Amino acid sequence: MSIAIAIDGPAGAGKSTISKAAAKQLGFIYIDTGALYRTVGLAATRRGVEPSEGKELDDMLSSISVELTFNEKGEQVVLLDGEDVSGSIRTPEASMMASKISAVPAVRAYLLDLQRDMAKTNNVIMDGRDIGTVVLPNAEIKIFLTAAPEARAERRYKELIEKGMDVKYEDVLDDVKTRDYNDMNRDIAPLKQADDAVLADTTELDLQGSIDLIVSIIKERS
Ligand code: C5P
Repeated sequence: MSIAIAIDGPAGAGKSTISKAAAKQLGFIYIDTGALYRTVGLAATRRGVEPSEGKELDDMLSSISVELTFNEKGEQVVLLDGEDVSGSIRTPEASMMASKISAVPAVRAYLLDLQRDMAKTNNVIMDGRDIGTVVLPNAEIKIFLTAAPEARAERRYKELIEKGMDVKYEDVLDDVKTRDYNDMNRDIAPLKQADDAVLADTTELDLQGSIDLIVSIIKERS
């Protein structure tokens, strides 16, 4: 039987970097579910489809293909209609589009089986917003990973600057707060800590400290 570890939390808490490192140490497959919402968002942007309920969006969902694969380094690659969009989904615009489109029930339903199927056949660390509450409610270990908005914005800001993007800290902080609000207040699968999840706050921790914390929580419980 496969083992699932669910790591949920707000944008910029370091979920992906920390989960990736923990998965490597533990020999699990890491699955970044935010990339799937980003990919559906990118499809909507490219086709000029509004990120809200309606026939246009339904039609789009029935005509696109979103696939999760892994490259030779074991890194996740997302394909939109066969094209590797792993890089194109990482812009601030794509983040905001993903946040909006992820509130649409049809989009969440569309991505649910894809996520569950991955966990059926593999030992996974899956990160997102609703993994412990909706996608894998029976996950063996659940962690809610968070940090203060200012700390999350600071990390995201540095990341974007390192990638050569021209962004302002205040705009990144605004984006983080807007995405928190959208994620926590949507009707369907809102971001919240599962009752049986362990809370991990990384505000005061650096990256290695955060990885150590998560690995120790997992080891204690497995
Ligand atoms: O994790 P990441 O920032 O890449 O996610 C992009 C957006 O996708 C989030 O702002 C959130 O709205 C949405 N998302 C979600 N459920 C998940 C993962 C991501 O709603 N499981």
